Amino acid sequence: MKGTKWDTKHWVIHNAVDKTVENLVKHPHIQEAAQWINRDELVAFPTETVYGLGANALSNQASMKIFEAKGRPSDNPLIVHIAHLEQLDGVVDNIPPLAEKLMKTCWPGPLTLVLAKGRNVCQTVTADLSTVAVRMPDHPVALALILASGKPLAAPSANRSGKPSPTSAEHVLHDLNGRISGVLDGGMTGVGVESTVVDVTEEIPMILRPGGVTKEQLEQIVGEVRVDPALQAEGLDVREKPRSPGVKYQHYAPEGDMWLVGLEQGLEWMQQKIRQLVREDRLKGYRVGVLTTDEGMSGYEADTVLSVGKREDLSTVTQRIYHVLREFDQQGTQRIYAETFPIEGLGAAVMNRLHKAAGGKVIRFNSDLISEK
Ligand code: AMP
Ligand code: MG
Repeated sequence: MKGTKWDTKHWVIHNAVDKTVENLVKHPHIQEAAQWINRDELVAFPTETVYGLGANALSNQASMKIFEAKGRPSDNPLIVHIAHLEQLDGVVDNIPPLAEKLMKTCWPGPLTLVLAKGRNVCQTVTADLSTVAVRMPDHPVALALILASGKPLAAPSANRSGKPSPTSAEHVLHDLNGRISGVLDGGMTGVGVESTVVDVTEEIPMILRPGGVTKEQLEQIVGEVRVDPALQAEGLDVREKPRSPGVKYQHYAPEGDMWLVGLEQGLEWMQQKIRQLVREDRLKGYRVGVLTTDEGMSGYEADTVLSVGKREDLSTVTQRIYHVLREFDQQGTQRIYAETFPIEGLGAAVMNRLHKAAGGKVIRFNSDLISEK
């Protein structure tokens, strides 16, 4: 690739016959990828949420390369990925009983815990905070890479900063080809949105970022759970400083300008409003896209109408959302109108990502924002 330092290796793993972790650890591609990790280089790998960009979490030099490759602001800390609980030694300092309970119930899985930082994690990873975010991913390729390298891996999503997170190796290569040593290709990821980040350093756990594990599920395990007030304020004109540094940045944005249309007046009002906005913009000559669900597909006439999944089953929506945001770019969409979802269960993660993708722009009944566009 022109202007880049090297060609990124594309190691295809998803057609391996035996996908158990024990077998994958010995796989030549995983062994090669682990060698790059141990040379302080970067390797992208699949997890059950999105593709991660991995580096040795115990090495400053390696972790710094993540920020460089992604164009990530240095005050946005990384999540440390482990394969077994013994790896927490030196990574975290103290594990409160509540955190232990969450680890036992939710790991491996899409839950990240913020805990007191251990002595071995480098400062680059935690962006100089006294806490560290850690999780055990539920994907055999991720676990095999961590085991083969013998290192906890610092890994944010493997996209250029600000872009939608990658849910396939092709997305990773689109953003990072020539900037990283290689990508382990495990096919499409399953959950599709990032992990839920929960601060467990205080008595009552607090959700800092909604994700694959829902608030309702957490409450069943540990009782009361709070949500960072900065998240509750999403879409409203309230400026709270979020407790998770990464939450303040624009994320997941497609190239086209995107608006959400509110659901407060019901599904029918929302869909009619979108149809009206699409008509107006097409008359002005814009290439217009609509983000809808399987149920809504037949109701729109626009240049690009894409379904994110089934409104009745939000796990299909989390799975496809980033792919669909990238697809609008592929089709050269200039303006995108998106349907919205109730903030319950996985709807909290879906709406969080849509809000960020739209830069917080929501069109509501009697909304001033309509005249602002
Ligand atoms: P990413 O890996 O790109 O999906 O982002 C990781 C998320 O975890 C960001 O929102 C970070 O701000 C958050 N995070 C990582 N470490 C910490 C920490 N020590 N305290 C609070 N939030 C954290
Ligand atoms: Mg990210």
